[in-house]
Order: sequence, then structure tokens, then C-alpha cells
Amino acid sequence: MSTSDLLSLCLFSYVVFLCFPYSGAVYSKSKECKRLDIFDIILRDKCPRTSILQSFKTWRFDRRQVLATTFPLDLILQNYVRQVPKCLFSVVYPIPLKTETSLVSYSEGVLNDILDLSDHVTTTKEFVDFVSGSWVLSSSVPLSHRYGGHQFGYWAGQLGDGRAVMLGEYTNQRGERWELQLKGSGRTPYSRQGDGRAVLRSSVREFLCSEAMFHLGIPTSRAAALVVSDDPVMRDQFYDGHPRVERGAVILRLAHSWFRIGSLEILAKNKEFQFLRQLLDFVIENFFLHINTTGKDKYLELYSRIVSDTAELIAQWQSVGFTHGVCNTDNFSLLSITIDYGPFGFMEDYNPKFVPNSSDDEGRYSYEKQPDVGVFNLEKLGEAIKPVLTQQQQKQLPHILKGYESIYKDKFMKLFRQKLGLYTDKEDDENLLAVFLKIMEDTKSDFTMSFRELGEIDLLGLKTEAIPQNYWSLNTMADHEWFWKWIIIYKKRLELEGTTEKRRQSLMNKTNPRYILRNWMAQEAIEKADRNDFSGVNRLLGVLERPMDLDPEAERAGYSSRPPEWSKSLRVSCSS
Ligand code: AMP
Ligand code: MG
Repeated sequence: MSTSDLLSLCLFSYVVFLCFPYSGAVYSKSKECKRLDIFDIILRDKCPRTSILQSFKTWRFDRRQVLATTFPLDLILQNYVRQVPKCLFSVVYPIPLKTETSLVSYSEGVLNDILDLSDHVTTTKEFVDFVSGSWVLSSSVPLSHRYGGHQFGYWAGQLGDGRAVMLGEYTNQRGERWELQLKGSGRTPYSRQGDGRAVLRSSVREFLCSEAMFHLGIPTSRAAALVVSDDPVMRDQFYDGHPRVERGAVILRLAHSWFRIGSLEILAKNKEFQFLRQLLDFVIENFFLHINTTGKDKYLELYSRIVSDTAELIAQWQSVGFTHGVCNTDNFSLLSITIDYGPFGFMEDYNPKFVPNSSDDEGRYSYEKQPDVGVFNLEKLGEAIKPVLTQQQQKQLPHILKGYESIYKDKFMKLFRQKLGLYTDKEDDENLLAVFLKIMEDTKSDFTMSFRELGEIDLLGLKTEAIPQNYWSLNTMADHEWFWKWIIIYKKRLELEGTTEKRRQSLMNKTNPRYILRNWMAQEAIEKADRNDFSGVNRLLGVLERPMDLDPEAERAGYSSRPPEWSKSLRVSCSS
């Protein structure tokens, strides 16, 4: 740490200490205030990071909290809803839940591989209190981020972390730096009309989906743990005048960075150009290491990278039928990872017009529109970057954005070729895929299972025009008049591969998941969790951690079967 870093940290800690005299230990208003034992502090500072920790008491955030010491902070330290000018973060302490909290689930992978913690810590009260927001580590400088965004096409002004606080940064044994956030931890200056809380229903969905996406190989934020309380949180789930009390929950979630397109937009809109430049430089220096930080085109290079990474991310979403639901610019990460899981959905019957969010009346964020929405959001990113560019450079923005389409298409075709078990690249593959999808659409067949079953079935063994009964999705497709013709063309195409049936099946079964997070599966787990039975959430997590592997228990639960009739009426909305 340099002398100036140390000075700024000391000055900052002093300001925080003046306003939060207990911040050196634990901050809790409504619960009994618990202080960290001095021995814990000594232990923590000496704690070597060479092994997985068995006790959470000795875990600590990085000594230097980079965000808090790099960026301008809100000068007002009281936590009340307001417009917050000229800063990137406000210091905000989580507001503890009032009732007892229970740990619903945790991700073993996140704990062991990212946080260097053993599973044992989850049995401790400290860990549950940490995730609940009632125990704030002394090494923590909790921050809520000020950002803006375009929502459903319109500039919405200041949004910000209305129910999230970034507890701190952690650099793990592998040298990876992670930002840990609580979501649902109470009001912040950015809460607007909201209560700062998150309900169990949406929290289970975010928890499971972040982990499911990671295990599908799709860039995403991660979820470490989820707790639930008996704190009443009122929600009108379908905005139809029927509010009901739900249970407040908190997720501990992680990302290398939580900066979004909206983080830059608010600085540009408010003409805070010095901070805009500072944030851009920070993002380049920390996350885009190949960009020359002294190069005169560094901001254009950054733009170009975000354009291509976003195009690739959306192609990955399409490849598993994932539909985000709320693709506003405040929900689009500068690192092009999937963030802010709300009313998302995995498409079941193949329908390009699939809209998971029942509040999205116009279908702005349907499955088929996601690639175009990417362009819209990247245009907004370009507008936000403009103030730091020369006029000549500004003219480059549309040219860079033009590249999006071909990057998207290339990635999309690469992924879908793999989904069809093709190793090589032939001109007619687009048609081959288009016809397969068209048959799926006309017969309302399941997107996930049609690809999966095509990979599982032995094409050489198909002597007559009949699909065995247990391939339920392919069976639906086989009703289409084109199906068997398509199979013949597909077999011919496979011959050009010069590969074996075994190799085709192996590629397809490594590519096409058997288990995705279907609404009905999440719903069952949520209803059980609401009754304090967390087995459904944990069982689903276990299955979604290995989405390609046949799992007898998952089969018995019907996770790869035709979705039950009752699931057709399930709806999800923005209310969360
Ligand atoms: P989302 O669409 O969930 O990403 O949220 C959009 C904005 O609304 C963000 O600024 C959130 O922090 C804020 N927000 C959503 N729900 C709440 C809530 N219950 N309390 C406070 N702010 C919220
Ligand atoms: Mg959001």
C-alpha cells in the first residue's frame, strides 16, 4: 500500500468513525450490539490465507477497500432517501432484520473456491448474522452505489442500490478480487418509494438462477448464501390490488464489479465528467488489462470490448433460452456478466415471443428482442462515454456498434452448432438450425429437451419413422410434417463431419442441459421454503450445479419431464 493510499484510507476511516462510532465493531440498531472480540481482530489481521478457514470469525475483507478509497463518497452520512449529486457511493449500513433469521441455502463452490471458507462456517451464528446484515465486520466499509439508467426505453434519472449494500472487497487465495453485496438489506438513499427489502420468493429465484447460470458456463454474478426472516414485507405481486405479507430475505451475492451502464450514464447526464473519466479509467485498469491505460483510444477500445462481450453474453442467453426480463441499462453490467435477476424465465415451449415478465405488457424484453435490446443499451453506453471522447473519436462509436451484429451472429451460430453436435462449420448450418427451430415452434416443443433428446437418441438405431416414447419432446416435434425430412438432412450433414455417433452425442450432452430452472421447479422450492423446509431449494441447487449430468433424484422429481399443467398459469412480475 502506498503512503497516499494509507493517508486516504486513514482519513476515510476517520470520517466514518466520526459518524459511526461503532463501525470499528458491529453496527446494529434494533438488535443488541455485538462487538468483535479484540482477539478476533488480532487473529484476523494475522490470519494467513493459505487454507480454507473453518471459522468465520477470522475472515476479513481486504485491508484497502479500493472503491471506498478511489471514488468520491457522498458527504451526507445519514441514511434517508434523496438525490445524491457528485459521488459514486454513499456509506450505508445494512439495517438488520427484526426477527430471527435462518440460513436457507449456501453455495459450496462460492464459499470454498471464492471466499476461502469451509462449509463449517455456515453452521455458525456469525455467518448467518453476516449474511443478514446484523453483523458488519470491522474491515467493512459498506457502500450503496449511485447509478442511473434507461428503463423500458426512457431515461429514469437516479436509481442506485435501493436495497443493496456492497459490504467490501475480498481478494482470495488465487488473487481474485471480489465485491460482496447484500441484497434486501434495508433502505438506502437510493430506495425512492421502496422499502429496501427483498422477499423470499424473488430471493430464492435470484440465488438459484445465479448459480445455475454459472454452471451453464454463462458469465454471471454469483450467490454465496441466502437467509430468510419472519419480517413482514408487503408486496402486490401482480399489481392487481391484492397485496399480501411475504417474508423478508437477504442474499449475499458477489461479482468482480457491480458497475453498470447506468453507473456511467448518471455521471454523463449530470455533467460530472471528471468522475466519468475516473470511473472509466478504473474499469479499464482493473478489468480490461489488455487495454493500454495511456493509449489515446483507450475509451474506444473499452467500448469495443464491451460491445463484443455483450453480444457474446446475449448469444449465450439465447443458447439456453434464458430471458432476463428487465434489460434496462441499469441491469447491464460493464463487465458483460448477467446481473440483477428479477422476473427472468427459461423458455419452455419454443416461442421467440416469450416474455417472462408479466409486467412487460409490450413484450419489450421478449426472448427474440434481447439481441436488439443489447444494441439499444450499447448505444446508451456510447452516449455516456461521448463526453470524454474527441469529436473524431465520437464518430467511431456507430462503426464499433455496427460490429455487434456479426459478433453476435458468429457466437450464436458457434453455440447452436455445438447444440446440434456439429464440430465443423458449413454454410447451410443456419438453415438446418432455422428449420429445426421452426418445427419446434410449430409443435410448441420444449426448447431445452428437444436439443437434449436429439443428443441422447441414437440416430443410427432409428430404423423406422418412430421416436421412442421416453423422448417426449422429440416425440412432439415428430408430429410435424417436416420432421423426418429434417432428420435425413441432419444425418447427411453429420456425414460431412466425418465423426462418430458417439462423438456427436458426447458433444451434445456436454452442451445441452437436461436441467434448467423452470418456474414450476422454483415455485415448489419457494413454497416449501416459506414453510421453513429448505430441502427443495437445496435439492434444486444440487441439480443445477450439474445441469448436464443425469441425476436419478432429479428424474424422479420430474425435472426433465414435460412441465406440469399447473405450471402454465405461473406468472412472475417485477414485484420482488
Ligand atoms: P431492478 O429492476 O430490480 O433492478 O430495480 C430497479 C431499481 O429499483 C434499482 O434502483 C433498485 O435498487 C430499486 N428497487 C427495487 N426494489 C426495491 C425495493 N424494494 N426497495 C428499494 N429500492 C428498490
Ligand atoms: Mg437492477
